[in-house]
Amino acid sequence: MVHVLLIEDDAAIRSALSRALTDRGHAVSSSPTAMAGLNAVMEERPDVVVLDLGLPDLDGCEMLRMLRAVSQTPVVVASARDAESEIVRALNAGADDYVIKPFGAEQLEARIKAVLRRAVQEPSDPSIAVGGLTVDPLSREARLDGALVELSPKEFDLLHYLAARQGRVVTKRELMVEVWQLPYGGADKTVDVHLSWLRRKLGETADEPRYLHTIRGVGVKLSAP
Ligand code: CA
Repeated sequence: MVHVLLIEDDAAIRSALSRALTDRGHAVSSSPTAMAGLNAVMEERPDVVVLDLGLPDLDGCEMLRMLRAVSQTPVVVASARDAESEIVRALNAGADDYVIKPFGAEQLEARIKAVLRRAVQEPSDPSIAVGGLTVDPLSREARLDGALVELSPKEFDLLHYLAARQGRVVTKRELMVEVWQLPYGGADKTVDVHLSWLRRKLGETADEPRYLHTIRGVGVKLSAP
């Protein structure tokens, strides 16, 4: 579910957009002023912001500049200002896209999807290092001291999940829900079996763990030796 934050002072537009986006399956929150919007971005961490420019407390472009100093959240400006100079100003202030009021919900939806697609493609290096172990979710490769570790898709998912939470104990129930997408649990054995395969592939045993530590009765923890 995409969380959209609407920053819009006009109550009628706010509720109409809110309803249209909710109907399309988004989680929508809204702020009527620039400052409330800025706080909401920091607190709620929305996936995308739809920003009006004519706001009562601060011009939308000013707000956008403040926002860009601290956040890369995608922003679609939605404004009645249709002069090219205004559009350029908003884009230069850090907007990812611009829609001119009045616009249909379909167009807004399409632009939200487009900025989210671009945001996802941003090349930050998502690989994780835990001691001599590296886990790269893009290539889906795990290496131990430089050597490729052959893993099944589920073993990779399990290792990546644990590596992303290195040093913290993860319960088997959490693994069932998050890695196996089985919210009702029950199949504890599945986790145990995969953990033992993973352990073997990492070249260690339960009695002499290096990376993978079982915390009896609680769960499992991945940490550097
Ligand atoms: Ca306005």
